[in-house]
Amino acid sequence: MPIPLTSSARTLGAATLLAVMATAVEAQTPAAPAAVSLARLECGTNQPPTDVGLRFSDTYAYNGLKVQLVYSCYVIRHGDDVLVWDTGFPKSSAPTSPRQTIPELLGQLDISPAQVKYVGLSHSHGDHIGQASLFPTATLLVGKGDWDVLSDAKATPNQAPIAPWLSGGKVETLTGDKDVFGDGSVVILNMPGHTPGHRSLLVRLKGMGNVLLTGDLAHFHENYDSNGVPSFNTDRAATLASIDRFKQIAKNLKATVIIQHDQRDIAKLPLFPQMAR
Ligand SMILES: [Zn+2]
Repeated sequence: MPIPLTSSARTLGAATLLAVMATAVEAQTPAAPAAVSLARLECGTNQPPTDVGLRFSDTYAYNGLKVQLVYSCYVIRHGDDVLVWDTGFPKSSAPTSPRQTIPELLGQLDISPAQVKYVGLSHSHGDHIGQASLFPTATLLVGKGDWDVLSDAKATPNQAPIAPWLSGGKVETLTGDKDVFGDGSVVILNMPGHTPGHRSLLVRLKGMGNVLLTGDLAHFHENYDSNGVPSFNTDRAATLASIDRFKQIAKNLKATVIIQHDQRDIAKLPLFPQMAR
């Protein structure tokens, strides 16, 4: 037989029930996935269009083709953590010097250098490592094959950009892929061939969807589309295998492919300081 409840008892009962439910929900629901966002940083000053037939093909393709190459770095926010992907040229008197450093650009996003937990390098070339030392407290993520080159003073006479990690800074040398934040949202992909330890980056955004940053797997649309191999790559067969894997990932994940050195791909992301989300 139902017991009639007074109005205050009913209210109390409902409140207690809600409190119990809230506790149960808190206990069962995992932490909300961290918000991930991505922006391009200008990490060098454009030079006149490059005649890419000279060095960017080992099969005499692109004869006379001129392409506007650019220098790109990227910042990825993952909750409160920050990854900087590639570090461009250093600020210097050279014509390729960026006008603003990465820390200056990050300042416009209210990110301090100390907040940068990881610096990821696609590879060891000078237009990708130039400003790494501006983040001495970050963990350096780099393919083992390229770290072997960078940490060898004979192979790399100018070790200034990686000096913090030669003197005790935390470096993680990668032999495979690396799920940076452990939730699959930002993955460094093993894509050797341009250099022994070359890497590309997958960023999975909630709104924009999946984005693939090439590193120097390809330098411009024409060599990406035709599986072209620059004559200065360290391993032709590895390059072709990496391009094949990269294209399959792009297809399966319906990813936006961004060729870091190709000016035509800048507009695939919102213009800095806006971030893709
Ligand atoms: Zn490059």
